[in-house]
Amino acid sequence: MNYKPIPAAIENLNFDNRFVQELPADPDPANSRRPVYAACYSRVKPQRVLAPQLVAYSKEVADLLDMPPSVCESAYFTQLMAGNILAPRMDPYATCYGGHQFGNWAGQLGDGRAINLGEIVNRRSQRWALQLKGAGPTPYSRTADGLAVLRSSIREFLCSEAMYHLGVPTTRALSLVLTGEEVERDMFYDGHPKMEPGAIVCRVAPSFTRFGNFEIFASRKEMTVLKQLLDYTVRTDFPHLDITAPDVYIQWFEEVCRTTAELMVHWMRVGFVHGVMNTDNMSILGLTIDYGPYGWLEDYDPKWTPNTTDAATRRYCFGDQPGIAHWNLLQLANAVFPLIEDAEPLKAALNLYVDSFQHGWHKMMVQKLGLKAYRPGTDDALLKDLLAILPMVETDMTIFFRNFSKIDPAAIALSDNRMGLLASPLGDAYYRPDQITRDYLDRLNHWLTAYGTRVRNDGLSLEARARNMNAVNPKYVLRNYLAQLAIEKAEQGDSEMIPALLELLRRPYDEQPEKEDFAARRPDWARDKPGCSMLSCSS
Ligand code: AMP
Ligand code: MG
Repeated sequence: MNYKPIPAAIENLNFDNRFVQELPADPDPANSRRPVYAACYSRVKPQRVLAPQLVAYSKEVADLLDMPPSVCESAYFTQLMAGNILAPRMDPYATCYGGHQFGNWAGQLGDGRAINLGEIVNRRSQRWALQLKGAGPTPYSRTADGLAVLRSSIREFLCSEAMYHLGVPTTRALSLVLTGEEVERDMFYDGHPKMEPGAIVCRVAPSFTRFGNFEIFASRKEMTVLKQLLDYTVRTDFPHLDITAPDVYIQWFEEVCRTTAELMVHWMRVGFVHGVMNTDNMSILGLTIDYGPYGWLEDYDPKWTPNTTDAATRRYCFGDQPGIAHWNLLQLANAVFPLIEDAEPLKAALNLYVDSFQHGWHKMMVQKLGLKAYRPGTDDALLKDLLAILPMVETDMTIFFRNFSKIDPAAIALSDNRMGLLASPLGDAYYRPDQITRDYLDRLNHWLTAYGTRVRNDGLSLEARARNMNAVNPKYVLRNYLAQLAIEKAEQGDSEMIPALLELLRRPYDEQPEKEDFAARRPDWARDKPGCSMLSCSS
């Protein structure tokens, strides 16, 4: 088929492809799986697919690329986003990176199923890299096929955009296409493989560089390339830093520590569990990256992880994410140490991470509770007590905090019996009312009394307090079962729920009265259903 003429908006994309222009390439042009030494990337083309079909696109991301909706709805766009054609000046490549997986050094990993199409500079002079996930094998595919299935692609597409609208730093998703081909997957690695529809997501971010991109060169003592990559990263992704400053690498590392701390505060605020916080899944820009077996906290359980591969040790459970990020930063510090040769400022930056996280977390938590500012004297105990009370009864985190804004601190003693509590605005948050004991009611009441005194002290009106709280406590998140419903329908050929959820999640902090159902507790059928509460890395 002929897809000419090329839409003007695509013809005009201003690719400067700085990554391939400035960094060392793999000299071997073969697209064969192998170790690649002393190179940041290998040139590789997406694999042709049979019958691509556009399932959804994000108009906000298209806008970042100066693409109007008419272009995204063209046949050319579908072929482009499926990797069947390349636009003028695209120079596709896969990057080489390594990583610590579940605490152990794993050696070379790399873009095994992500193919970068190049980087553009848009009309607002912003840099955006485009990347197809699931577009076929690369030299970094190891034993896998380089492909992605529909269920994981829907999850990545929707969650990237949902996170953006929640105000959480993230890579973005431009498009989701079905390839028209089938892919074999053994979802729970239990010897029951099945054919699933193949799909490709086009991801967009200022940069996809990961901690692991630095670690691989340090591990191989390829110091020249390590320095080239770090200089490139500072110049391109941290242009506000002065590359000639003697301590520029320290300044850079401090910034990575700070933005990573901010990211962790956001995840803890909205109840997001990444699921696979390996160092190859940590963005140098503090973005949420690589949506795999992630999940949203339903009942508040700090030990919860959606990832069945991690069920035994729970290394990447909700509550441990900030500590894991610190450990990952330590690995990054080790990787760049040879270029700095002074451990003290790196250690200081790691401490800065701890301080930034603590500071940000306190600020965020008191905002969630509608307090004006964090006061250590009273608020440490207030937060500690609440976080001890929440797990006593299965309590939906999102609903609890959202509805808490409706509790009037002037009339706080609402819950001295179970029925009273269930009839209050907090009632909707309880999965297991039978777990509400006398002891629980007493503790909650005691806490509410202390909270009431504290919040009255701030002197905010009920309305002002609710407004503040609703700006940080989302009403709508991509509940695990909602994504699963969209997947099951799409696998049956009805993909309508995908744009519908995208639309819902565009305004996660707004009341959307006609869409109340999407804010409800997880239904009971989804409690232990695969895809809802149990996911694996197979995608
Ligand atoms: P992840 O656990 O998704 O972060 O992936 C870890 C590594 O495995 C990365 O290098 C991925 O590119 C690679 N990988 C995951 N799935 C596939 C696949 N289907 N084909 C090729 N490489 C893959
Ligand atoms: Mg990954």
